[in-house]
Amino acid sequence: MKIALFSACQYDQDYFNEFNTGHQLTYFVDALNEQTAILAKGYDVICLFVNDVVNKTVLETLKANGVKLIVLRCAGFNNVDIKAADALDIPVLRVPAYSPEAVAEHAMALILTLNRKTHKAYNRVREGNFSLEKLMGFNLHNRKVAVIGTGNIGKALCNILKGFGCQISAYDIYPDEQLKALGVVYGTLEETLAGADIVSLHCPLMDSTKHMINKETLKLFKHGAMLINTSRGGLINTKDVVEALKNCQLGYLGLDVYEQEGGLFFKDNSEGIIQDDLITRLISFPNVLITSHQGFFTKEAMEQIATTTYNNIEAFINK
Ligand code: NAD
Repeated sequence: MKIALFSACQYDQDYFNEFNTGHQLTYFVDALNEQTAILAKGYDVICLFVNDVVNKTVLETLKANGVKLIVLRCAGFNNVDIKAADALDIPVLRVPAYSPEAVAEHAMALILTLNRKTHKAYNRVREGNFSLEKLMGFNLHNRKVAVIGTGNIGKALCNILKGFGCQISAYDIYPDEQLKALGVVYGTLEETLAGADIVSLHCPLMDSTKHMINKETLKLFKHGAMLINTSRGGLINTKDVVEALKNCQLGYLGLDVYEQEGGLFFKDNSEGIIQDDLITRLISFPNVLITSHQGFFTKEAMEQIATTTYNNIEAFINK
């Protein structure tokens, strides 16, 4: 098969070359969008990531140029108009669970770093400042943690939190029986948010979950609580979250994802000025930690992403 990978970084090339099962691969650094869709001309399969925009217009261009299959090298598919793909008869396959532990462990890393202020301590010590001033954290043992969405990643996080001795409450439209047996208490979204010291988001971005964290739901948070989002940026209304940080309703914020990642995340802009006002505002708060959608980014996950993507292509060929 002739496969074009969009939004392809060096690490994509390394892993997709290593596990290649005999396909002809072309890598485009550009994200797929209405302007770049024409690059797909002549390819059987296009392989995409979270920042590629796959709307109806893009899909029509892909179809007109002979694309037979879309393989997503990620779990979320909120960036694809699935109905339009169905109507055009372009199958869309994804990697549903490559390494839930990778993302859950990153969520835990954000929780621990924000709580114990390790990022501040690191910078301080490099400047020769060994004081503990303003570095006090809190014990996680017995703290109340709300996990919103207990699928693969949320469940992996619950298991990690259990080891820390946290009290876990959860909200999911399909509660998990194993987690219930572990002592996780399910409730409504409102019940689950109320009283939690830490809230971590792990449900997919859909119409029903868009901006689930907003001005109104933020009022339910315990004053000074921590919010962690490693799922999709659109789950939170970022402007409302900035307000909640300003009035200290939120005490800590850890984001691995952002509403407007396109053109910003996954890029080296170390020489430049950040053009995004909201990100600039967010990183000006000392109690905010932002990473560039790196939750998935472990060796094990990259291996699994490449092999599952090739398996998806083989399954399509052999169907
Ligand atoms: P999953 O499908 O296994 O779990 C999602 C859970 O959300 C399910 O249990 C589902 O019942 C629940 N859910 C669906 N709609 C809901 C709603 N309206 N309210 C409450 N719960 C709802 O998915 P997963 O593998 O655990 O991944 C979760 C999300 O994490 C993905 O959708 C993706 O956006 C994100 N993700 C991020 C990274 C990263 O690098 N940061 C990597 C992989 C996945």
